[in-house]
Amino acid sequence: MQQFQQYINGEFSDASATFASLDPATGQAWALMPEARTEDVNRAVEAAHSAFCSMEWSSLTATQRGKLLYRLADLIAENAPKLAELETRDTGKIIRETSAQIAYVADYFRYYAGLADKIEGAHLPIDKPDMEVWLRREPLGVVAGVVPWNSQLFLTAVKLGPALAAGCTMVLKASEEGPAPLLEFARIFAQAGFPKGVLNVITGFGPECGAVLTSHPKVAHVAFTGGPESARHIVRNSAENLASTSLELGGKSPFIVFADADLESAVNAQVSGIFAATGQSCVAGSRLIIDQQIKDEFLTLLAAKAAAVKIGDPQAMTTEVGPLCTLAQRQRAEALISESLQQGAKLIWGGSTIAGDGFYFPPTILDCSDVPHAASLENEFFGPVLSVVSFATEAEALALANDTQFGLASGVFTKDLTRAHRMIRGIQAGIVWVNTYRAVSPIAPFGGHGLSGHGREGGLQAALDYTKVKSVWLRTSDDPIPDPFVMR
Ligand code: NAD
Repeated sequence: MQQFQQYINGEFSDASATFASLDPATGQAWALMPEARTEDVNRAVEAAHSAFCSMEWSSLTATQRGKLLYRLADLIAENAPKLAELETRDTGKIIRETSAQIAYVADYFRYYAGLADKIEGAHLPIDKPDMEVWLRREPLGVVAGVVPWNSQLFLTAVKLGPALAAGCTMVLKASEEGPAPLLEFARIFAQAGFPKGVLNVITGFGPECGAVLTSHPKVAHVAFTGGPESARHIVRNSAENLASTSLELGGKSPFIVFADADLESAVNAQVSGIFAATGQSCVAGSRLIIDQQIKDEFLTLLAAKAAAVKIGDPQAMTTEVGPLCTLAQRQRAEALISESLQQGAKLIWGGSTIAGDGFYFPPTILDCSDVPHAASLENEFFGPVLSVVSFATEAEALALANDTQFGLASGVFTKDLTRAHRMIRGIQAGIVWVNTYRAVSPIAPFGGHGLSGHGREGGLQAALDYTKVKSVWLRTSDDPIPDPFVMR
């Protein structure tokens, strides 16, 4: 079996323990991963803290940090095939998607490379004649980056790019499910020329490794992506170190189609919105809210697309839907579907596990129009399962869209411009896509509210969020400061 190592203080080493990682396509163990325990986590945080305090890192100019990030981006692009292959092997995400996504990961680092020397302070027009007051933007300190298995390299880029641009250092905890791409990423990072300890990559389990990391007294900020339940732990952990947090959590995103929409585009966007990444996408458009006038026609087109999807080996370029990352994910999908069917939902397509090894689950469509509180409408599957409800009026469509505790993404398909604007205003979500879905860019902020978390990744603001403001007061008068205890 292949064996991976952790990366601490510029060196690769074995961790206190190991665990086996399963290939989701076969269900078989294929590699041994380093399992960081308390001692490893402490060593990683100390290394990140020493690097943060070191002159080697802190005396670099922002432009020099940017140049290192450009170098890192180039190395990622050069090593993209290997990273894609490993991510596919360890997480089951299809090679078509990992290859395309890793090319874009390099662009995310380039964006933050360019931004490094554009993080500016400010001069204040203070209300005192003999004072100069300005604001310095300084890096937060050691950041704990905690990511889930899906799109790990991408979810790392949106944290590490702005954190390094701002001058922070990081301990990155890869998911215990499929950590191989991040452990390989550490090998690439090691070649980019950053001082040792600026990035440390470990992996391990949430309650032990993750909890020790996120409550560590030398951690200043926790940048977390994962599920709401783990996020609650993270927030509780941060009661120990009072670290700030950014939480990118899950969603139950509405995908609204009005009768006047371009149906072919809407169907294609819905297919990619829910079946791409085998549905393991935080922004999955998992609730189709469809105008009742076109419901039958739309579902017929959608079911035909779902039936034609090529399910299979995630390493094959022709595969469109691969396995889920874990057996637990598949069992969760089965349980939620069975509960929804008992509640009265109707199965339009898919629904039952594909026999054989590997954690495969087919594209599934459930009509929940008569069951407004079906389990499948209220819970995130993180799998290729679409729940459908219909509406008669625009107001009803909006009410259905907002009938959720999540608030990450949403999609609206209509040709009516004024209606599109009303929907944009009314939808409670961090992202509204109009006549498109699942578009992302390093330039645009990404994030949600409610059970979908808080904070934004991407864009300029994300880099500013890795800084703290220092107010500097400088007295410009040469007159002596009067003794405050001498009465005049
Ligand atoms: P998860 O919450 O189980 O795990 C995520 C990470 O948190 C892992 O590294 C895990 O080890 C760690 N963790 C778990 N418990 C912890 C604890 N007590 N203390 C510290 N760390 C802990 O998530 P998952 O099941 O691996 O991933 C799926 C979830 O991630 C879904 O809900 C999905 O929507 C969400 N997600 C969100 C986004 C986004 O950008 N909004 C992107 C991708 C995934």
